[in-house]
Amino acid sequence: MAAKRKKAAKKKRARKKAKARGYRPRRFTREDRTRAARVVQKLYATYPDVECALDHRDAYELTAATILSAQCTDERVNMVTPELFARYPTPAALARADQLDVEDVVRSTGFFRNKAKNLIGMGQRVSEAYGGEVPQEMDDLLTLPGVARKTANVVRGVIWGKADGVVVDTHVKRISGLLGWTRRSAPEQIERDLMALHPQEVWIDLSHMLIHHGRRICIARRPRCDECPLATECPSAGM
Ligand code: SF4
Repeated sequence: MAAKRKKAAKKKRARKKAKARGYRPRRFTREDRTRAARVVQKLYATYPDVECALDHRDAYELTAATILSAQCTDERVNMVTPELFARYPTPAALARADQLDVEDVVRSTGFFRNKAKNLIGMGQRVSEAYGGEVPQEMDDLLTLPGVARKTANVVRGVIWGKADGVVVDTHVKRISGLLGWTRRSAPEQIERDLMALHPQEVWIDLSHMLIHHGRRICIARRPRCDECPLATECPSAGM
């Protein structure tokens, strides 16, 4: 029964992905673009030193942290990674790790067995195929266990400043809807709408700023519209 449910869920996800791939982004008017640009300006003014919310020192650490961030808050990941990187400071060290030891360290981030397996697999692939350095190219990154397009986007954007898309997490998804930038719920489709609305040079910062905004002001259960710098541009203000 459980296997059947798993299979059905897998099929549903595959259908959603296929639909998202064929999705044509919204058409935006000049007015939409001007208003969106004003929102981005206000975000830059509010979060001038915006940076990735996952603590890291290099590409290896960010890749591992991003793998752990699936279905988990960045705060929780940041509590776990100091111990993880103290025990396994390099991809080679992680490649040699014992699965149960890694599970112990990452347990509180959820899905810990799978995440531990992916982390060790990532360490092995980086050590064996890429000489111990996390690769820069998208196609190479996608060969690392646990690394899907979203993870690769985060790493390429933060470490090498390469913007292939907009990273859509739960905050980006929610706030984009509130701001009227998208009507979709699938992250892949939201990303396409955001890419159509915003110029490429803001894609990387945009998701960092929306994540910060979602934590500090546009909080899921109680958005603080009365103190939000975006309120004059936001169609959901006060709702
Ligand atoms: S005005 Fe309110 S709903 Fe709109 S972005 Fe700000 S906090 Fe969120």
